[in-house]
Amino acid sequence: MEEVLVVEELFPYLEEELLKLAGKEHLKYSVLGKHTGNSPLAGENTAEDTAARIAEFLGEKKPDEKHKEEIEDLTNQIKGQLRGAESEIIERPDLPVRPPVLCAGCPHRASFYAVKTAMKGKKANFSGDIGCYTLGNAMPLDMVDTCLCMGAGITMAQGLHWTDPEVVNFAFVGDSTFFASGMTGVANAVYNEADMILVVLDNSTTAMTGHQPHPGTGINMMGDVVNKINIEAVLKGLGVKKVITVDPLNLDETVKAVNKCAKTKGVKAIIMKSPCIALSKPTEKCVINDSCIKCKKCIREIGCPAISVIDEKVVIDASMCTGCGLCAAICPKSAIVKEVR
Ligand code: SF4
Ligand code: SF4
Repeated sequence: MEEVLVVEELFPYLEEELLKLAGKEHLKYSVLGKHTGNSPLAGENTAEDTAARIAEFLGEKKPDEKHKEEIEDLTNQIKGQLRGAESEIIERPDLPVRPPVLCAGCPHRASFYAVKTAMKGKKANFSGDIGCYTLGNAMPLDMVDTCLCMGAGITMAQGLHWTDPEVVNFAFVGDSTFFASGMTGVANAVYNEADMILVVLDNSTTAMTGHQPHPGTGINMMGDVVNKINIEAVLKGLGVKKVITVDPLNLDETVKAVNKCAKTKGVKAIIMKSPCIALSKPTEKCVINDSCIKCKKCIREIGCPAISVIDEKVVIDASMCTGCGLCAAICPKSAIVKEVR
């Protein structure tokens, strides 16, 4: 061959390997791709863009008679596929709008809601981090003001404290991120006498990236059962004087813990511990009874995807509900009750 067109996403891996091979073996082909502007540097390779680039490549090649027919066939095939895809798209109804949200029954929803409730009417910054709890940024929770890289929530919260000491600064970090790159930030905060509340959202797993084990799970990377590293002990070892562990699904207890920490100076930590819904099978579900006055507080304030309005009735989708009880805890009419599955 004389020319190769490489169409690949992300790093120009194959393109560079082909160039290396050409140099090593003294092969006389040229490689077209990201380095030559024949392939997009960033973003996805859509079918349309790829077809246009292939067509351009084939046009440039000025094929000899032997290959002309082959190339025309290939071009027609691509065009035909595109036309087929287009007609399929036209016949399909629009996809429902479904932004990424925390799962129904996710304990992080309860954690964010408790902090939000405790801080109502007060000035507070909510530094977020990387994990499924980044989804706490979505409405109606709206509880992630910053998100940079793993562990940055903790260092940002302590930095924000120095810019405005009157504001209560929170840092949310997951248990896995805490072990990955959160501990160094805590040492820095304690040593430099920052004033902040660290909230460790401990769901006992690394949920967003596939439930890999981490030092707090008690199973190592080879699947062996090993001793867990205790987050509370690590925090105390790093010099955090006030460490409270709560179950975020107990809303009152969690709100009280947040208020208590907000009144204390220095670095405080609340471990909000409740397992990820993927780790257990629900035995309960919640249902809405006739006392419901359709105020929609349960929809407006917590945004659980299991609750919706159907035929002007507020209903809970039993297939999604885990029976976490957060909606029941906030309903002003006690219209939401737990049932055994
Ligand atoms: S109990 Fe309420 S908040 Fe929890 S999963 Fe069911 S509907 Fe959602
Ligand atoms: S919060 Fe209670 S009363 Fe209001 S809509 Fe939901 S279930 Fe009904």
